Amino acid sequence: KGKRAFIAGVADDNGYGWAIAKSLAAAGAEILVGTWVPALNIFETSLRRGKFDESRVLPGGSLMEITKVYPLDAVYDNREDVPEDVKANKRYAGSSNWTVKEVAESVKEDFGSIDVLVHSLANGPEVTKPLLETSRKGYLAAISASSYSYVSLLKHFLPIMKPGGSSISLTYIASEKIIPGYGGGMSSAKAALESDTRVLAFEAGRKHKVRVNTISAGPLRSRAAKAIGFIDMMIDYSLANAPLQKELSADEVGNTAAFLASPLASAITGAVIYVDNGLNAMGVGV
Ligand code: NAD
Repeated sequence: KGKRAFIAGVADDNGYGWAIAKSLAAAGAEILVGTWVPALNIFETSLRRGKFDESRVLPGGSLMEITKVYPLDAVYDNREDVPEDVKANKRYAGSSNWTVKEVAESVKEDFGSIDVLVHSLANGPEVTKPLLETSRKGYLAAISASSYSYVSLLKHFLPIMKPGGSSISLTYIASEKIIPGYGGGMSSAKAALESDTRVLAFEAGRKHKVRVNTISAGPLRSRAAKAIGFIDMMIDYSLANAPLQKELSADEVGNTAAFLASPLASAITGAVIYVDNGLNAMGVGV
């Protein structure tokens, strides 16, 4: 029987979440996604109108099916945490049960269990500001949306994850090397995410036999990356300097996620896996 995957952070067909969904679907998994509440309407409409049909094509020729789309805002753990102004916001009031706890409960109710959990989301409101110009509020918002969101997701989904299951997040090399332009505390958020990957691998491994890994991905022209403003430069830099001189395709990250989710990776946990054409291994530009 095929596995079931929940992928948090899919709102169009340009990002890593979409590519991971496709690779998992191609490997036979049933796909559930969590979509950021403000992006839900446009994503569902586009999906329904066939706007993504071309990018839904799997290697065999069939189309990826998304069994269910759940509204999600991963900065809120439960209903009680949601501030009144957000509750009253038109886009949020239009859907329900989108806090992390409620989404996990809905998935449990609908399907009972999952095998694979993917966290493919990040948000740093001050990402374009250097760290020295980042406010406390912006820094904490980056950590909340990009790091704690993962702790919270895993915490709430772990009880419905099957033993032998696999959890995967997406990180970026700015956590360990200086990448000017990746600001607003986003470099700090990725450092926390990578450290948490190790601690969560221990806790989830001992408690539930679930593996926890993170993929350190190279630059991709996603919606989120375009908002940072330096993505074309990073892609050019990688093309010029990486051991493999080709543009990174989102599918290469998707395929790695499918590998990590499979029994082929049964002894891999607590790891940061680089999928970046080898750029991380370079010491100097050439
Ligand atoms: P993306 O825009 O496809 O994905 C980010 C998603 O996060 C969006 O769908 C957005 O709606 C969602 N999101 C933001 N705040 C949210 C919240 N509070 N609750 C729920 N969802 C929320 O862009 P992407 O670049 O594919 O990003 C996916 C992951 O890959 C992120 O963790 C990102 O840091 C990481 N990554 C990206 C690159 C790159 O170059 N694009 C490189 C390395 C790592």
